[in-house]
Parts: sequence; structure tokens; C-alpha cells
Amino acid sequence: MTEVGDGYAVLSDGTQVPADVVVWSIGMRASELTRQISAELDHLGRVPVDRHLRALPAVFVAGDTAAAPFDADHTVMQACQHATPLGKVAGYNAAADLLGLPPREFRPGPYVTCLDLGAAGGVFTRGWDRTVMAAGAEGGAIKKWINQVIHPPVDDAEAILAAADQVRIELPFFPRAEEDDAA
Ligand SMILES: Cc1cc2nc3c(=O)[nH]c(=O)nc-3n(C[C@H](O)[C@H](O)[C@H](O)COP(=O)(O)OP(=O)(O)OC[C@H]3O[C@@H](n4cnc5c(N)ncnc54)[C@H](O)[C@@H]3O)c2cc1C
Repeated sequence: MTEVGDGYAVLSDGTQVPADVVVWSIGMRASELTRQISAELDHLGRVPVDRHLRALPAVFVAGDTAAAPFDADHTVMQACQHATPLGKVAGYNAAADLLGLPPREFRPGPYVTCLDLGAAGGVFTRGWDRTVMAAGAEGGAIKKWINQVIHPPVDDAEAILAAADQVRIELPFFPRAEEDDAA
């Protein structure tokens, strides 16, 4: 895309496409810090880790920098739904390692996506094939619910510790068979 005008966008080959809204997608890339941990990064520049999120004997990796296995066919996405539980498990395992306790496995909830579409509501998908489960006003209501529950507590030590233990967040919308979820 080379230009966005009033009611149109121009592609790099000169084609003018009528458009009310232009969504520009540039992809994602992990921090360059990952190079200090591994020479074998994945295509997004992430550090390969095992199911305990361990990259090296004394290094655990979380969030957008971790190429953690979700299931046999997928690694996690660089998104909040995975970054947050990855942080919980990596933090737990780093502390457990120091204390000589057994590590816990990373077992996230089902993979979903939810987009707010403004006046058009929203769209909610479930599973890696991104099956649309809700759209319009119903999809918009789900997005609002997710935004309200996704934020961790910040000023209550007991609530923070309790939330830290919730790695697998269940979404009460259109549950599907267990095989769609992390093994
Ligand atoms: C514009 C945008 C929109 C997004 N929208 C969504 C969305 O709608 N839904 C969704 O699920 N996800 C969304 N994401 C992705 C989501 O924000 C990330 O997946 C998530 O924040 C990753 O968490 P993280 O802790 O791994 O990294 P970050 O949240 O990026 O935290 C990394 C922290 O490390 C700090 N840091 C970096 N280098 C150093 C250093 N050398 N020393 C010390 N500190 C350092 C950074 O300042 C930062 O505070 C969005 C991302 C972007 C950029």
C-alpha cells in the first residue's frame, strides 16, 4: 500500500481500491534480546522453550518472546491470551527451580479470537480454524466481557496471588470438544 486517501487506498502496483476503512497489518517480531538466549529462534524471532517454558537450564521465557508449544501443531500466539498465562507459568517455574520444587506445565485455555467492529458489534472465533461462533451485537457483547475480565488485579496482594494461579481461563461461550483445546 502506498497511499490512503478519502474513500480509497492505493496498492504498490498502482491499483486504487475503494475503501471506507483501511486495516494495515505488518506482522509481529520478538525483541532482539532473544538473540542473547538462543541462536535458534523461530520465524517470529522467538526463543524455543519446552512445556515448562525453560529455554536454558537457568532461563525461563514468557510472553511474546517465547515460542511455547500450544499443542502438537501450534505454538502460542503473540497476544494477551497467551502472554498472560505464559508469564504466570514462567514466573512460577523460575521460583520453583530456585526452591527445588517440581515445575508446572504450560496448559492454556482454548484458542479464541475476538475483534471489536465498532458500530457493527464484534466477531468471536474459537479454535485454530477460527470458526465464527458469534458476530454482530452478540460478538460485541463477548468482546466487552473479555475486556472486563482480562485485566489482572493490581492493588490487592491476595487477589493478585489468586489470579496468578489461574493459568487456564475458561471462556463461557460456545464450548467445543476438548480436542480443540491444548492437550
Ligand atoms: C498496538 C498493539 C495492539 C495489540 N492489541 C492486542 C489485542 O487487542 N489483543 C491481544 O491479545 N494482544 C494484543 N497485542 C499484543 C499484546 O500486547 C502482547 O502479546 C503482550 O503485551 C505481550 O506481553 P509481554 O509481557 O510478552 O511483552 P510486553 O507487554 O511488550 O512487555 C515487555 C516489557 O519489557 C520491557 N523491556 C523491553 N526491553 C527491555 C530491556 N532491555 N530492559 C528492561 N525492560 C525491557 C518493555 O518496555 C515492556 O514493558 C497488541 C500489541 C500491540 C503492539
